[in-house]
Amino acid sequence: MYFWCTLCQRTFTSVELNPSQCHFSDCEGSVYDIRDWEWVLEKDPSFPEIPKVGEKYSLRKG
Ligand SMILES: [Zn+2]
Repeated sequence: MYFWCTLCQRTFTSVELNPSQCHFSDCEGSVYDIRDWEWVLEKDPSFPEIPKVGEKYSLRKG
């Protein structure tokens, strides 16, 4: 599973279905800040189906 953090906007993988925090230690993202990649793709279908881990993907506002 791929996940995306709304705070640092980076992607990471986890074997957990609901990661309790952002994978990156320099980020304070919690369970409430994590979205699964499917959610991100719905917001911006131009993103790749398989994201690059650690890459920053910025969602356009609005
Ligand atoms: Zn983060």
